Amino acid sequence: MSLAFGRAFHSVPGPSVMPDRVLQAMHRPAPNIYEGDLVELVTRIKTDLQAVACTKGEALIYIANGHGGWEAALSNIAEPGDKLLFLATGRFANGWADMARLMGADAEVLDFGTAATVDPQKVEDRLRKDVEQEIRAVLVCQTDTSSSVRNDVAAIRTAMDAVGHPALLCVDCIASLACEPFRMDDWGVDVTVSGSQKGLMTPPGLAFNHISEKAWQARQRVSRTTPYWDWTMRRDPEIFYMNFFGTAPTHHLFGLGEALDMLLREEGLEQVWARHEVHARAVWAAVDTWCKAGPLQANISDHSSRSWGMTTIWTGGADAEALRNWCEKETGLTLGMGLSLSADTNLPTQGLFRIGHMGHLSPPMILGTLATVDAGLKAQGIEHGQGALEAAAAVIADHLRAPQKADIARTG
Ligand SMILES: *Cc1c(COP(=O)(O)O)cnc(C)c1O
Repeated sequence: MSLAFGRAFHSVPGPSVMPDRVLQAMHRPAPNIYEGDLVELVTRIKTDLQAVACTKGEALIYIANGHGGWEAALSNIAEPGDKLLFLATGRFANGWADMARLMGADAEVLDFGTAATVDPQKVEDRLRKDVEQEIRAVLVCQTDTSSSVRNDVAAIRTAMDAVGHPALLCVDCIASLACEPFRMDDWGVDVTVSGSQKGLMTPPGLAFNHISEKAWQARQRVSRTTPYWDWTMRRDPEIFYMNFFGTAPTHHLFGLGEALDMLLREEGLEQVWARHEVHARAVWAAVDTWCKAGPLQANISDHSSRSWGMTTIWTGGADAEALRNWCEKETGLTLGMGLSLSADTNLPTQGLFRIGHMGHLSPPMILGTLATVDAGLKAQGIEHGQGALEAAAAVIADHLRAPQKADIARTG
C-alpha cells in the first residue's frame, strides 16, 4: 500500500522546490508589456541579479534554459577557430565543451576526473605553455551537478593571474548561484552563466549572463554573433522589448521578482548561503553514516570539495533505480537520478543517485527527505550504517542550539 498521498516532494538538483509565493506571483492576468509595473520590475530584477552574483557587471536575461545561457556566453566570446580551455570535474563542463565544438571553437578539456576539484596548479602549468596567449577563455562549473564537486573559483583566477594570462574566466553557476558563496567581482570572473530553476527557485525558462567590463571589451573583437544571443542589444536596450529581443517572459519575471525579494530582502544572501551550508552538512552527516556499513559511497570524500546544493551517492552493487522508484511510488519523494560520470555517455546510470538540497528548503524538508531515503534503504534491503537521522538532526540542533546558560549569564 503506497503512502504517497500527501504533497509530493522533489529532492532533485533542479528544478528545485518552487515557493508557493513564487507560483502565486505568476498567477495573474497578462500585463502591459510596453510600460508600467513590468518595466519597473525588470529594472529591479536586473539590479537584484547583480546583487545575487556580487557584481557591478550587467545581468542579461534570456528566455532559455541553462544550455541557452551557455550558448549565449559562447556566442559572444568566441569565433570559429578560437581556442577555449574547459576545466572538467564531471559531465557539465564536458557538455559545454561539446557545444563549443559544435559552434566551431577549438575546445580543449583539462579533465580532473569526477571525484576531485580543479587543480589550479595544472591550470597555471597549461596556461604557461600558451606562450602566444591564444586561449581566449577558461571555462569551469563552480559546482558540477553530476559529480557534486564544488570548485574554488578564486584559486583558478589566482592561477591565471600568476601567469599574467589575458583569457576571460567564465563560470557556470547554474547549480550554485544563491546556494553557495560566489563573488563575481572579488574573484575576477568575467562571465557568469546561470538559470532560474535552481537556487533562484523559479520555474525553468530564464538564463542569465553576467558580464564584466573585460568581457564586454572582448565581445567587440568577435566580428559576428547570432542576433538572439548577442549581448549588445540586451546590455544597452533603447526600448524595453530589446531587453528580451521580443516579448518579455512576463510570468517568469513576476515569479523571479518574488524569489529575489525573498532571497535578498527577507532572508539576506549571506543567510541564504549559511542555510544551504547547514542543510548540506545535515545531508552529509546522514550520508556519511549510511556509508559506514554496506555498499553506499559518497562520490566526493572531502567535505570542503562538496557542493552545498546536491550530493552524489554511489550505490555499489545496489540498484539505485529501484531505490528511487520506491521513494517516488511508495512515499512521493522524487530523488535525483544519477548522471553518468563516464566521459563517453550522457545516459543516466543505475549505480548512482543524487539528493538535491538547493533552494527553498527548511529542516523538516531536509530531515524528511533523509528519513525517507533511510526508510527506502531498509525497505530495499540495502545495507547501511545506522544512526543517520540522529546525526543529521544533531547538525541542525547544533546550529540552532539556544545560547548556553553560561552565555546568557555573561551577557547579563
Ligand atoms: C542544470 C545545469 C545545467 C543545465 O541547465 P539546463 O537548464 O538543464 O539547460 C548546466 N550546468 C550546470 C552546472 C547545471 O547544474
